[in-house]
Amino acid sequence: MLEIKDLHVDLEEETKTILKGVNLSVEAGKVHAIMGPNGSGKSTLSYVLSGRDGYEVTKGSATLEGEDLLEMEPEERAAAGLFLAFQYPVEIPGVGNMTFLRTALNAQRKARGEDEMSAADFLKMVREKAKNLKIDADMLKRPVNVGFSGGEKKRNEILQMAVLEPKMCILDETDSGLDVDAMKLVAQGVNALRDADRGFLVITHYQRLLDHIKPDVVHIMADGRIVKTGGPELALEVENNGYADILTEVA
Ligand code: ADP
Ligand code: MG
Ligand code: MG
Repeated sequence: MLEIKDLHVDLEEETKTILKGVNLSVEAGKVHAIMGPNGSGKSTLSYVLSGRDGYEVTKGSATLEGEDLLEMEPEERAAAGLFLAFQYPVEIPGVGNMTFLRTALNAQRKARGEDEMSAADFLKMVREKAKNLKIDADMLKRPVNVGFSGGEKKRNEILQMAVLEPKMCILDETDSGLDVDAMKLVAQGVNALRDADRGFLVITHYQRLLDHIKPDVVHIMADGRIVKTGGPELALEVENNGYADILTEVA
């Protein structure tokens, strides 16, 4: 599904290398988690995959179902089925949440040569998905994320994901700042989307989320590289011992 090979990324603004050879392959149907100390490049990886400005890929490749992601515009990546739930969801004043979701969905359908969804069908679908995430009608009408609490913003990211039904979902610290109940809702939203044709990359600081979203594979990222890969037990090791032991071991 997602194949990253020897990815090297510099900042455009200053001469600084952030990613120093990332190799990662996420198969359809699998959930991969990335953990790692602050500043190791986790968010940078997700930004580069989604096509955000400000980064320069100096080496390596990233493909989605064999298609070169790095050659695509951000909206083409989305239409191809890539989704990123942001660590810091953006507020969009003046654009109603529901309008935003419908516009995004229809833009993707159009890019794939599919028909628009009717207003009635859309409304029914969104209301049902919102209900599962305990997002009320009022939040659907308000401008995107404006005045939403931290937890509401994160749940709203999961609603976007549920509506767009991407093939490859990347969640960047969607659990940070959430109380236990909100985190469970987020995890349920992710688990509801798990299926044999969809891949997940879940970036998290905490094992806690992974109690609810059981990963197939856990990676540790440090200093712009994936330094260790294992099963769910690796996340428990981090929880119990921190990163120091692992970093010493791989150094
Ligand atoms: P993580 O998500 O693992 O905490 P980031 O990808 O956010 O790490 O950051 C990796 C490193 O790159 C950090 O040292 C961070 O300060 C630096 N960095 C990322 N983006 C920028 C930027 N736009 N300007 C300056 N430094 C940046
Ligand atoms: Mg961070
Ligand atoms: Mg980050």
